[in-house]
Amino acid sequence: MNEQNPNNAQPAQNPQPGQSAQPNRSFSAQTGGRGPFPGQRGPRPQHHHHHGPRPDQSGRLPAMSASRQGTRIMRTDVHAPNTSPIDRPAPAMQQDQQGHNAGQGNQGGHRVVLGKGARKIAGVGHIAGARMTIAKKLDRGRGRGPTRAPNLTGASKEGDTIPPLAADAIRIVPLGGVEEIGKNCTAIEYGGDIVIIDIGFQFKEESTPGIDYILPNTKYVEERRERIKAVIITHGHLDHTGGIPYIMPRIGNPPLYTRLLTSVLIQKRQEEFPQVPKLDMHIVEKNQVITMGTFTVKFFSVTHTIPDAMGVILQTPYGSIVHTGDLKLDHVDGVPTDNEVQEYERAFKNEKVLMLMADSTNVENPGFSIPEKQVHKNIEAIIKSVQGRLIIATFSSLLERLMKIIEFAEIYGKKVCVEGRSMKQNLEVCKHLGLLKTKPGTMISSDELENFPPDRIIILATGAQGDEFAAMMRMSNKTHQKIRITPRDTIMLSSSVIPGNERAVQKLKDNLSRQGAKIIHYRIADVHSSGHANRDETAWIHRQIKPKFFMPVHGYHYMLRVHADIAKEANGLTEQDIVIPDNGTVAEIQGGGAKIVRLREKAASSLILVDGFSVGDVQDVVIRDRQMLAQDGIFIIFGIVNAHNGKLKKSPDIISRGFVYLRESQELLHGVRMVIKDAIENSSRGQNPINVDYIKDNVTDQVSKFLLQETAKRPMVIPVILTI
Ligand SMILES: [Zn+2]
Repeated sequence: MNEQNPNNAQPAQNPQPGQSAQPNRSFSAQTGGRGPFPGQRGPRPQHHHHHGPRPDQSGRLPAMSASRQGTRIMRTDVHAPNTSPIDRPAPAMQQDQQGHNAGQGNQGGHRVVLGKGARKIAGVGHIAGARMTIAKKLDRGRGRGPTRAPNLTGASKEGDTIPPLAADAIRIVPLGGVEEIGKNCTAIEYGGDIVIIDIGFQFKEESTPGIDYILPNTKYVEERRERIKAVIITHGHLDHTGGIPYIMPRIGNPPLYTRLLTSVLIQKRQEEFPQVPKLDMHIVEKNQVITMGTFTVKFFSVTHTIPDAMGVILQTPYGSIVHTGDLKLDHVDGVPTDNEVQEYERAFKNEKVLMLMADSTNVENPGFSIPEKQVHKNIEAIIKSVQGRLIIATFSSLLERLMKIIEFAEIYGKKVCVEGRSMKQNLEVCKHLGLLKTKPGTMISSDELENFPPDRIIILATGAQGDEFAAMMRMSNKTHQKIRITPRDTIMLSSSVIPGNERAVQKLKDNLSRQGAKIIHYRIADVHSSGHANRDETAWIHRQIKPKFFMPVHGYHYMLRVHADIAKEANGLTEQDIVIPDNGTVAEIQGGGAKIVRLREKAASSLILVDGFSVGDVQDVVIRDRQMLAQDGIFIIFGIVNAHNGKLKKSPDIISRGFVYLRESQELLHGVRMVIKDAIENSSRGQNPINVDYIKDNVTDQVSKFLLQETAKRPMVIPVILTI
């Protein structure tokens, strides 16, 4: 599903090991105090990303810089009087984040390291009799890649009770890609062996702020890693390959089978993960037959938007399990071409197909998709007739189209300049493999543009989705180093608009048209076609494969449901022949191919998030915190309290971000200080030594209530109480 991957292979935009870390990415201030995420074992190096104190809304400098940078304040060496047992982070909190109460601003969010002697720390102010040391970013060590020790030990409620597989049963577990478009991954198990098809990832969603990628939850196969005989990758798009560097080490780096182009794209990306063990890659061709454990495996080639896309046929004694990968059909007015017909005949004429899994991405669209050939024809006509420069923005994953555009450029005597790292990389791979052959002088750099008349120039650029840092956006907002848009330019957006990117694309078009450029996009002319089969194409594919059972994959639930209806119409399947899965659904074909059932037990399916350099599955709290911080900001209170009588040593320090402009809220500040003072002194009355946690809870409650009353906002309130 290339359309979902506008950034296909653009590591520069994503944090990778060894590259400079992105500052201020983390909010570990509120989440600190909890230990490393599961799957991250062992110490990690500390890297400090200090940007120096900056004045904040309240005009205060120092203390903020700590929280801003995700600082975690740890309490380790607490000296005697104030050591309430709960004042130290409970082990449970370190391990599983329990006890965190995002909304209330839990004190567990901070661990404070106290030592003897007074010292001024990062601007927190003088803390009499106490010294705070600040341990930065402990829970997101930099410099270590995403290669974590496999997470095999974490207890989970899911997945522990799945019964063993009967000898005459085949188990299919979609681990990703059936509740979304992206992170495709399916495990197929028979005779004690497991084969995995695709290990993709998904780009972040609005509901996961700050997250880089979402991975399929592979706990089920991690726990059965010794049985994995192979990973098969259907094609080179990131929603089918993106999880490889993260997940292969967790599942014991089993042999990986794929076709040539896919293998090179995977290998290229692996270079950005130097600490990951070398892949055991096997290149297959569509006619090959390979034994993988108890499975005999065959392939068939499918039409998609990238060369070397294939479907997989796993043979068992009860019939074959077929997985299409992403596909569409090459056709003329709804009649599949001879090539398609022959390939499906070759693969399925004598194949007894027990079960089919097929691409659901575009099944809601009626009829047949626009053939890529038609798109090529339209683009050719534009290349031929355009006056002035032609700037074509498209996905770097649409390799076939990119190569075709270069071919047309040569036919019409034009030069091609490629702007965008991922596009350049992908084209280099194609050149390297001999898929792309260019005459010397066709490809030019942006420095050479001025040597040619505009009529002879085509610029191929990334960023058709309005991606903030991609070449197209930089041209549109005049920040591109070499290229300025002029009113004589024609810009072709050869892409659809991915849901969620509408506003970004609108902004891109606005910026471009402000500069007078003429814009051609897919709604004006057929200059784009998706790589996925529409409804009637899908039905045709079903009729060629003729499965006994069916499981729709690659899509949101509704799409899978629509696809199930197509399966019924195409081959007369009934509801009992179809399992519409969720991620983690365990489906079994039982009784030697007699029936398909969905087990009550589910494999683990919680989101696995790649967040900076951490990979983990228990970050719900982190995400919730981020959402909350985005809504109403954070409000931090530093108070120093006499351990014996609970009296405040001085007026508490207050820091906030994203809440209200404190400098102009003196009355509010005054009020909140009174609330804090009362809360501390009331809750410590009669205690000796005082119970710091009890006080913190009270402060959190009282302050939250007060702020809500005064501002109608609910910032995250975090009290840090130091006792002396
Ligand atoms: Zn794809």
